Amino acid sequence: MKHYKIALIKGDGIGPEVIDEAVKVLDSVAAFAGFHFEYEEALMGGIAYDITGDPLPKETIEIALKSDAVLFGAIGGEKWDKLERELRPESGLLRFRKELGVYANLRPATVYDELVNASSLKPSVVSGVDLVVVRELIGGLYFGEPKGRTDDKGWNTMVYTRSEIKRIAHKAFEIAMTRKKIVCSVDKANVLEVSQLWREVVIEVSSEYPEVELSHMYVDNAAMQLIRNPKQFDVMLTGNIFGDILSDESSMLSGSIGLLPSASIGSKIGVYEPIHGSAPDIAGQGIANPIATIASASMMLRYALGEAKAADKIDASIKRTLKEGYRTHDLAQFDAKEVCSTSEMGSIIANYVSK
Ligand code: NAD
Repeated sequence: MKHYKIALIKGDGIGPEVIDEAVKVLDSVAAFAGFHFEYEEALMGGIAYDITGDPLPKETIEIALKSDAVLFGAIGGEKWDKLERELRPESGLLRFRKELGVYANLRPATVYDELVNASSLKPSVVSGVDLVVVRELIGGLYFGEPKGRTDDKGWNTMVYTRSEIKRIAHKAFEIAMTRKKIVCSVDKANVLEVSQLWREVVIEVSSEYPEVELSHMYVDNAAMQLIRNPKQFDVMLTGNIFGDILSDESSMLSGSIGLLPSASIGSKIGVYEPIHGSAPDIAGQGIANPIATIASASMMLRYALGEAKAADKIDASIKRTLKEGYRTHDLAQFDAKEVCSTSEMGSIIANYVSK
């Protein structure tokens, strides 16, 4: 029997609640598909600071590095907001991503048919949207040198090397090969030299994936096209700052922050997590939507473990659950047949997985 080691970082607020439901679903799919998960819990965020004095204890990195993947909840909360910067939960998360070298951030935006009315765009525009933004995560404008500021001047530098562009482009094409085989590379090559190199390297890499259709789009147009006709996109490949903005824009197509998963992938080990935070306002009430975390577990199966069939099974169970009218509180006003708790939602999805 195949055996996978998963590091579980539950974190703060609703993190533990949503991770528990993802584990329920993972165990259900493992029993169905004939493999086994071994979980090891690790501390991060406010809870880690409270227990160890460090938001990212060394042991957490060690546990992550000896696992096949990390499933992550969320960290943060007002309680820790007044700590000095490096002791805050968010600093722990940034350090963690850097330690693991996760250079690719994947953010799918799927619009479930049953929830087309939950989007702020017209149902005819969002119905059927299924795209993924592949964002370069540890280079570009946020990391480039020189950077600095004086009283009346501030500057940053957008830098990409050929090898940085190559590895993220390969990731985007590999992902496209598992989907509709369409990549749109987003840049600003009409103005920026760094984007001209970006485009040149993406074209070079594309020659290794002859089945994938490649197009290029300027970022200003891409921002507009995402709202005008999001269905034209399959994989959007882009750099750090453009991806930051476009992935947030695309996440709003689906209607609730509680639905959206993400993956941060590198050469070592990937981190799979919902895009939402620790939601302190609803923590402990059993009303958080666990679907984003369950869908993150599905991404983990697909991208880290190569278990595409098991991932498909989870995705289909989420769709079936929504189709049958089960909704958590955040989506209660959108065609709910039954409003359920976090734990009930997890159990329903886990149950459908096993059928
Ligand atoms: P948030 O995403 O935690 O919450 C924003 C709003 O969405 C809240 O009203 C919340 O109740 C709701 N919400 C979020 N997830 C939900 C879910 N699964 N189901 C139903 N409703 C949900 O963002 P915030 O309030 O700006 O931040 C709260 C804390 O989370 C802060 O400390 C912030 O730094 C941290 N944060 C952590 C991460 C992370 O761990 N990756 C990401 C973003 C924010």
